[in-house]
Amino acid sequence: MTDLGFVKKCESWQLESRFFPSKVGGKPAWLDLKNIPGEKYLQCEYCKEPCIFLCQIYAPYENSEDAFHRTIFLFICKKVECSQLNKNGNLKVFRSQLPRINEFYPSDPPIEQNDWRTDISVNQWVKTCYICGILAPKHCSICKIVNYCCRAHQIYDWKHGHKEICGNNQKVMKMTKFLLPEYEIVIEEEDKEDIDNTDDLIKEEEEMKKYKTMVEKGEAGTFPHENVQDLVSSMANQHVDETFFTFLSTIDRYRDQILRYDRGGHVLYISDENKIFEIPRCPECNGERQFEFQVMPQLLNFLDFENALKSIDWGILAVFTCIRSCVPKNGYSMEYVWKQDIVESNLSDALKE
Ligand SMILES: [Zn+2]
Ligand SMILES: [Zn+2]
Ligand SMILES: [Zn+2]
Ligand SMILES: [Zn+2]
Repeated sequence: MTDLGFVKKCESWQLESRFFPSKVGGKPAWLDLKNIPGEKYLQCEYCKEPCIFLCQIYAPYENSEDAFHRTIFLFICKKVECSQLNKNGNLKVFRSQLPRINEFYPSDPPIEQNDWRTDISVNQWVKTCYICGILAPKHCSICKIVNYCCRAHQIYDWKHGHKEICGNNQKVMKMTKFLLPEYEIVIEEEDKEDIDNTDDLIKEEEEMKKYKTMVEKGEAGTFPHENVQDLVSSMANQHVDETFFTFLSTIDRYRDQILRYDRGGHVLYISDENKIFEIPRCPECNGERQFEFQVMPQLLNFLDFENALKSIDWGILAVFTCIRSCVPKNGYSMEYVWKQDIVESNLSDALKE
């Protein structure tokens, strides 16, 4: 059974660590609050600057005491030139997990109120980068107040406002647009079509209504293909990538899905080409990894802001994690992500008509 993820605007306090959120953008809401990764682990393989937070999914293993809480974090380099076709060097993924009894959170579920346990915060444990939220061993040498993960982010901050407020007690922090816009990820079960036609029609109508309200609220993105049926029939007489066809038909029912979660299931590939053929083993336990979820290209519709990320692209980002979900030795374990891009000829063929 596949679960689908959709983005939703919400208050930023609802996306803090204490509520175990699934979210897109902003700073990561770390799970283990002490052993968080720093620059060294987040370096883009191409430009060597730290990747920034893309999204995280709260996905516990119901039957594992060690993974009573469990979150997967995905990071991406925001430089356009680092987004290379079918290459994953601009992406990083981490898994963190905790038993029910742990040093950071109470064992009872959180109460969703703004003022509930605001003391549960990564900043109680370690210093985090003011710009990107990862471990910050450096600080501004003049005021010694603001912390950074690396020199690049310190320089960025200096140029974008810190220069004016450094050493000034009445500092007004200007929000920079360095990170991606923040959303909650809401997870819903994917209804399989059929059952019976009436049911289908009703669901279709409901979906349409839901979609329309989202559009009105400005919450829905537009998938490049307005009408998948038209697109598909226009492709029918040509030599087409069948995988791409299946991809489009599968997502047609819920076009604003930004994520598909199907632990131990199958990747919904976007193309016949550049499928993954070998998944590296878990570096911690040397065990096998399995597919857990994939980020969909629709998410790109929600990320465009101030020309950053404008041409960053992906077809799908498929995340593979340790089957056993072994206990990470240092709080966060590196997992594997595969980027598959859309084959240009498919799109241009399909859109020629
Ligand atoms: Zn890069
Ligand atoms: Zn940083
Ligand atoms: Zn300063
Ligand atoms: Zn493992």
